[in-house]
Amino acid sequence: MKKRFWLIDADMTLFDYEKAERFALEAVCAACGVAFNQEALERYHEINESLWRKLERGEMTQDRLRVERFERFLRVVDSDADPADAAERFVEHLGKGCYLFPQSLSLLQNLRARGCTVGILTNGITAVQKSRFRLSGLMPYVNALVISQEEGVSKPDRRIVERALEVLRCPDKADAVIVGDSLTSDMQAARNAQVDGIWYNPKRLPCPADNPYIRAEVTQLHDLIQFV
Ligand SMILES: [Mg+2]
Repeated sequence: MKKRFWLIDADMTLFDYEKAERFALEAVCAACGVAFNQEALERYHEINESLWRKLERGEMTQDRLRVERFERFLRVVDSDADPADAAERFVEHLGKGCYLFPQSLSLLQNLRARGCTVGILTNGITAVQKSRFRLSGLMPYVNALVISQEEGVSKPDRRIVERALEVLRCPDKADAVIVGDSLTSDMQAARNAQVDGIWYNPKRLPCPADNPYIRAEVTQLHDLIQFV
């Protein structure tokens, strides 16, 4: 399998989102008078995960998710701080939390040096993702940044994949590949759009057998170069 048009996920594929999230949540907790510890982080994760699954199922909008996660979080940690303020502070800090994984920059440099077209396909908040990409040093190697909030549609909906292929001027989706760490968003998007997927699986989780669009699996970003 050789590919020229690459649609690459951002969070937990190129960026260490967990680190950015810890940084942002710590700022929220400090402002809301809540102790920031492992328990607070876990509570937040549970809430956020369940709301993201709802978003992926089309049961929730991203704007709603942004605030609802703090309505729920502040309730469980017994804070009467304003959830809308917390949400705003979180997003502001998230945008400053730019932590790349070690192979991210060289992967994109390598893909572009070999003549590939690189699109970033990310479910996220436009201002946050643009800010982090600006800080990252990746932008010279990115042909297009396709962000769910801006497009009004999120992975795994096939329409965001189709939009990215259009922006990248990909003439034939057989030339394209979707890369990402998430089965429910990235690999499901590959399936929905009938585009080949490569699962980035650094934790070596078992690969499900029921998605025929997962054509390959890599545990390191550099291993992707064999598919150019
Ligand atoms: Mg991801």
